[in-house]
Amino acid sequence: VQNLPVLNLGSPGTRFDINNSTTINDLRANNKFGIDKPRHEVWGLPWQSATPFPGLAYCIGGRSLYWGGWSPELLSSELPNSLWPANVLSDLKASTLSDGSKGYFQQSSDQIGVTQTNDFIFGELHKALREQLYNSIGLVTEAIPLTSLPDHPAVRFSDTSASDEKLAVLLGLDPSSALPTTQEMKDKLKLEAPLAVQGQAGHAGFFPFNKFSAVPLLIKASREAYLESNQDDEKKRLMIVANCHVIRLNVISEGASSRVDKIETNLGPIPLPVDGKVIIALGTVESTRLALNSFKNKVPAETYNRIGKNLMAHLRSNLNIRIPREALFTLPSTVKALQASALFVKGQHTFTGSTEVGHFHFQITASGLGATGNNSEAELFKKIPDIDLFNTHLNASDTHVMITIRGIVEMQPLNNNSHITEDLNPAEQEFGAQRAYVTINPS
Ligand SMILES: Cc1cc2nc3c(=O)[nH]c(=O)nc-3n(C[C@H](O)[C@H](O)[C@H](O)COP(=O)(O)OP(=O)(O)OC[C@H]3O[C@@H](n4cnc5c(N)ncnc54)[C@H](O)[C@@H]3O)c2cc1C
Repeated sequence: VQNLPVLNLGSPGTRFDINNSTTINDLRANNKFGIDKPRHEVWGLPWQSATPFPGLAYCIGGRSLYWGGWSPELLSSELPNSLWPANVLSDLKASTLSDGSKGYFQQSSDQIGVTQTNDFIFGELHKALREQLYNSIGLVTEAIPLTSLPDHPAVRFSDTSASDEKLAVLLGLDPSSALPTTQEMKDKLKLEAPLAVQGQAGHAGFFPFNKFSAVPLLIKASREAYLESNQDDEKKRLMIVANCHVIRLNVISEGASSRVDKIETNLGPIPLPVDGKVIIALGTVESTRLALNSFKNKVPAETYNRIGKNLMAHLRSNLNIRIPREALFTLPSTVKALQASALFVKGQHTFTGSTEVGHFHFQITASGLGATGNNSEAELFKKIPDIDLFNTHLNASDTHVMITIRGIVEMQPLNNNSHITEDLNPAEQEFGAQRAYVTINPS
């Protein structure tokens, strides 16, 4: 959706007003609250809070239709051994799992397109901006030194060793030209944007995925299940049920243990076999609400009371800058159309009054524009560019570069002032189930 801007189907966004980030009370006051009154076609806000939220995309694929695709792999310092089970960490990080398949970080990186470099973002503007960032990275407050970061997935996950020629190709450099040192090339690759976008298929006869979303895979799997089951719903291995709202999981006791025996929905109950598994994936707040509504008095109080604690979100800032192209020292003056660039910087911060560290990153996007242009993504993420303007873009004489730096920051964990609870007002219900109340404070 995000890559087809002409459709005007964007997400609500972060601006605080009735059509963007808002609250249930504001929506009610403006007569805009209800299942029949979506914002931006499919967006709804199911939880109560004093803090404005954009809410959820109530559609197949959810927010994966709207996301930007930035997918940096978590660093070891973000996955401390003290908090994460050892077997989870080893399955994520392993180069090979016991069944011979690749570790999960590697599989997901390959599947969504993060491993590839220079297939989607390439060109002279990109190279010049990367060079300038590389030379000035020491000036970026709290940026993690490039030499301390793990190698780019294309280097780390490669079956062959990283020859200078290969590193040059990954960077979009001419391998027969005078090349930087091996370490310098490896460090420059760490500045490449980890985007879940595949620009080239990497397999003859396949189309590239473009930006990853759950929908093409879901359509394929559901159509295959339809054919495989000979159209018999009961035999399908996968089925998508439209407009089906999950209300509660029904928990029954069986001897010393308990299990979910059915899922209650607005379309009626879905029974579960004894060995059935339920995967809860309704987004952070609604998944928590389902657990709060379903497991009360069904699990030990000690366990129940932990549900909804340690609520964290990421904080974001945007900085837009327009610079004349001459400010990029290595950009050849002969190149007219500058096209687009995307880069990434990872940082670490020690919280005030604590020894704990948090992580942040900068997402840097840039587009070549005329003197008055102000959109750093003007030529980025366009799945179907305007064909009438395609040649104009390629032949434009860009005089300026619009750069956006988005800061994405981790909140401090275990803040007792940030949590999800049941809304205590008995009138706050949806399909007969209590709404969630979200309280969030960054510090
Ligand atoms: C504009 C935008 C840009 C973003 N960019 C990035 C990025 O660059 N990198 C990144 O990592 N993240 C990004 N994100 C965040 C990322 O998209 C989300 O974190 C991720 O998609 C959440 O996936 P999810 O499956 O947990 O939730 P969702 O995708 O929200 O899926 C939840 C699904 O549950 C359904 N649902 C909810 N309640 C019920 C119910 N009671 N019964 C039945 N179904 C229900 C909803 O319809 C929805 O389909 C971005 C998000 C937005 C909006």
